[in-house]
Amino acid sequence: MIETHIDRDLAPATGTEWMSGGGEMGRRMRELDWTQSTLGTPRRWPAALKSATRIVLASHEPVCVWWGSDCALIFNDACAPLLGEYAANALGQPAPAAWLDGAAQVSGGDSTYAHSLSPVPGEDGGLGGVFCAFFDVSAAVATERKLVTEVQSLTRLHDLTLRLGGMTELGPILQAILDTAVETQDADFGLVWLQDRETRVLAVEASRNWDPQLLKTFNNVKSGPAGSAAGNAFEQRRRWVIEDVEADEGYEPYRHIARTIGYRAIHSTPIVTRAGSLLGVISAHYAQPRQPSQRDMQMADVCARHAADAIESFRGQAAIRESERLHRAIGESINYGVWVCDGHGHQTYTSESFLRLTGLTAEQCAGEGWTTVLHPDDRERTLEAWRHWMAAGGEWDFEHRIRGADGQWHAVLARGMPVRNDQHDIVGWAGINLDIARLKQVENELRELDERKNEFLATLAHELRNPLAPLRNGLELIKLAGTRPGTIDKAREMMERQLAQMVRLVDDLLDVSRVSRGKIDLRRERMALAVVLRNAIETSAPLLQDRNHHFVMHIPAGPLVVDADLTRLSQVFWNLLSNAAKYTEPGGRIELTVTALGDHVEVAVRDNGIGIPVDMQDRIFDTFTQVDRAMDKSQGGLGIGLSIAKRLAEMHDGSIRVSSKGHGEGTEFVVRLPLVSPG
Ligand code: ADP
Repeated sequence: MIETHIDRDLAPATGTEWMSGGGEMGRRMRELDWTQSTLGTPRRWPAALKSATRIVLASHEPVCVWWGSDCALIFNDACAPLLGEYAANALGQPAPAAWLDGAAQVSGGDSTYAHSLSPVPGEDGGLGGVFCAFFDVSAAVATERKLVTEVQSLTRLHDLTLRLGGMTELGPILQAILDTAVETQDADFGLVWLQDRETRVLAVEASRNWDPQLLKTFNNVKSGPAGSAAGNAFEQRRRWVIEDVEADEGYEPYRHIARTIGYRAIHSTPIVTRAGSLLGVISAHYAQPRQPSQRDMQMADVCARHAADAIESFRGQAAIRESERLHRAIGESINYGVWVCDGHGHQTYTSESFLRLTGLTAEQCAGEGWTTVLHPDDRERTLEAWRHWMAAGGEWDFEHRIRGADGQWHAVLARGMPVRNDQHDIVGWAGINLDIARLKQVENELRELDERKNEFLATLAHELRNPLAPLRNGLELIKLAGTRPGTIDKAREMMERQLAQMVRLVDDLLDVSRVSRGKIDLRRERMALAVVLRNAIETSAPLLQDRNHHFVMHIPAGPLVVDADLTRLSQVFWNLLSNAAKYTEPGGRIELTVTALGDHVEVAVRDNGIGIPVDMQDRIFDTFTQVDRAMDKSQGGLGIGLSIAKRLAEMHDGSIRVSSKGHGEGTEFVVRLPLVSPG
């Protein structure tokens, strides 16, 4: 009532008698001296403006009207905040340019408004002014902003996923993840820490906007930065937030770093694998004190998950590469390496060493290519066994010959096992190729030795029995001879000869075992070579005479002195002379030639007998070796004389060699010995 009363009082002066209500703004309008404005006294305002003004004042929503060519403004209380400081003087003054321009949104105070404009006709029927109503759209705008940020974050995460797909090095991967973490959280700095698997220390692996010098401070901390956000997040395996480093007591040791770098708040998230292993921490640092928002936490979690996956996959791949290198090394350390076949038995991997052996490329060897280098005689056998093995699924163990790049056949033992999956199905085969050339050689040598030994035993039995029959006959003769001394003498001579033969056989046998066990001691002294040779010739003279050989000697004049065991060195020459006599048809020619060669002497024993086939000449000195046993038997021998002679020559620091052009071509043995000064 009082208000109305006042209005009425003022009305005649201002012409605002028709205005009513409108709160503070209504009061100011009624008090305003409108004659100073382009609108003039309100009493004369056009009816349309008056109506619009009444509506403006009556409205609780922000509304206004601007009138005339100057756009003189009339607004209500609710509209005042939209004008800010201008509100105090805006009545009757031009409306803000932004409103007139029809800006989509207008901010006022903490809110954002959209406005709708309606034309108001003037007196002449033309446009008198514009009625403008504002709507608070703050909530919608906030939602829209949030959505935009959300979409931006998702886009960044999506970009990150795409980029990670093409990256192989862990450093750049972690850097990309950290960049995304910092950007999506609107943070200013960031760090990724990983725990060193050996030292257990947390070390910085990626950083964003950090001074590298300052990073060293963190890296030097042994057990990870205790009391820091990262240290706590790691120790406690959970998010750790320091809203303001200036207010956080535990952060005191690092505060100077925070000040230097320029951050106030930290948000650290542990990096944990899906299986639950703790790998490290990802931290975002903010320039202002701050509590991370829900979205910040989500972004940090997503980035930490990306980091965990990336580290795990990187380490897994590194482990696979290491294991591949290990297997390759194992393969290469075996001659000829390892091989791998798929479930169909097609070779998928072959070690370098097998490829080197065969000269095949990996491609040529793949599939069934490896069978092309099998020996033709082994091929079918191998393939059949291979097919059988694949069907049966057992252990593959097969010997065959492989053609090498050197054109030779190489004995190879292939071994393998089926590879099974978790369901125990066979998914492939893997195995090795073993070089068994040496094994094969030893096996052959052993077989030959065994054959020689068996032959020897047969020969030995034969040789030992040979004299027994004549000896028994001799005894029989003596028994029957009575007092006929002639017969007895003859029988005794014959028996002595046979006995001597037996004694020689037994002596040889003893020698060969002693020689092979190194049990013979030489009693060496300086002596003229001639003495040794004479001794040997005397011993073999009966045999030479028996077989009616023509024996010739060439010995140079002058003393040739050797350091020898008379008996043992004589045995060498005696052996050669006996052999020459034995293996030369009766009436043959046997020569002994001595040649001095500086500090050595060579003694050659040459015959024109049956000769020795060239391919036998290497083996002739082996124990139990005889060229033709059937024929030799008649010559009475065990195949050990030459091996003893060779060993004895060597014990005298000498050597012995043979040469013969072959069967029927005669034979020459040469003994080479060092000479010593006559001293
Ligand atoms: P053996 O007791 O059989 O004579 P050796 O070891 O003395 O044993 O000789 C081995 C083999 O060498 C003989 O069996 C013989 O076949 C061959 N041989 C040795 N000397 C001669 C030679 N002068 N002429 C031909 N063959 C020989």
